[in-house]
Amino acid sequence: MTTGPVQARSSSPDQTRDLAAAIAELARPCDLVLLVGDLGAGKTAFTQGFGRGLGVDDQITSPTFALVQSYTGRLDLYHLDVYRLEQVNEALDLGLSEILDDEAVTVIEWGDKITQALPRDYLEVTISFGPAEDDRLFELRPVGSSWQARMRALTVALTDWPATPPESTPPEPTQQPVPGEPQC
Ligand code: ADP
Ligand code: MG
Repeated sequence: MTTGPVQARSSSPDQTRDLAAAIAELARPCDLVLLVGDLGAGKTAFTQGFGRGLGVDDQITSPTFALVQSYTGRLDLYHLDVYRLEQVNEALDLGLSEILDDEAVTVIEWGDKITQALPRDYLEVTISFGPAEDDRLFELRPVGSSWQARMRALTVALTDWPATPPESTPPEPTQQPVPGEPQC
């Protein structure tokens, strides 16, 4: 069975961290997650929550300069940011093959830049800006069978962060006092 992408929505950095932590509950050793989205979309915020869901206690910071950072958790985490890489070859110089061969879970910010160097088995998380300043929209697309098999569980895990906010029910019409009638 193939399932389409799953969508979710957050309206604060904390909600982004919480929904990412919920996704991490479904993570397994050797998983790969690609984060796609412009600067400021919330890729690092997502990774902070995702790490928390993996049981990482250390503070996760942007690896923009280090390019790769590793953390110990219930499942270990590699966090890469390949924004500054000019070429896929540079990713390989980072030791990408060793990282991907490891049991740890790997999260790559701007991972879409280096898909040629990656196995065709990952979860792609695209983050875009929503209508309000702190709104972020998430689209989770499985590539390959391992995340495909988890899409139903992912849909359930993300029920608290629906892509479309529930219809707001119009307020009850307020009873206007009839002029001349007592007010109580
Ligand atoms: P990126 O890694 O994609 O460049 P960061 O996670 O470093 O983005 O930064 C996201 C910025 O957007 C932070 O300043 C954060 O406070 C802000 N922000 C506002 N709303 C959200 C949200 N819903 N989710 C994530 N970040 C948000
Ligand atoms: Mg970042």
